[in-house]
Amino acid sequence: MIEGLLLPGMDEDSEPFFGFTAAHELRVQCCSNCDSARMPPRPMCPNCQSLESVWELLSGSGTIWSYCVPHGPLLPAYSALAPFNLIIVEIPEHPAIRFCGNLVASPNGAINEIDHAGIRIGEPVQVVFPEPVDGVVLPRWQRQGATN
Ligand SMILES: [Zn+2]
Repeated sequence: MIEGLLLPGMDEDSEPFFGFTAAHELRVQCCSNCDSARMPPRPMCPNCQSLESVWELLSGSGTIWSYCVPHGPLLPAYSALAPFNLIIVEIPEHPAIRFCGNLVASPNGAINEIDHAGIRIGEPVQVVFPEPVDGVVLPRWQRQGATN
């Protein structure tokens, strides 16, 4: 667990997403009218302006669309862990939706345990759910085929 980790702010739009991650489900908000997916969650569909939505269950698989390795100066909670990775994951169900997170070797592993020099764009990954931090489960990603 990272002390001082920045957690997302909770509001009525994002709270359902983190309710699902706490149940180890990755879901995306979709418009009930036109089926457009949107991330981050928000009250109105940017495509048709409908206020109705549903939460579609995703397979949890994806591919690395991009990644970065942050360098200092960083927030105190992160500077001791640098270098670490941040990946952007494209999901097959909705290619325009991308999730960000850390590529880890195990759900509760350190965010710097993967050698970032070996990360490749296009690598298949699978969502994993670590233990909650202050009640929030932030999804992470593991290489497909990796064992926990
Ligand atoms: Zn819509």
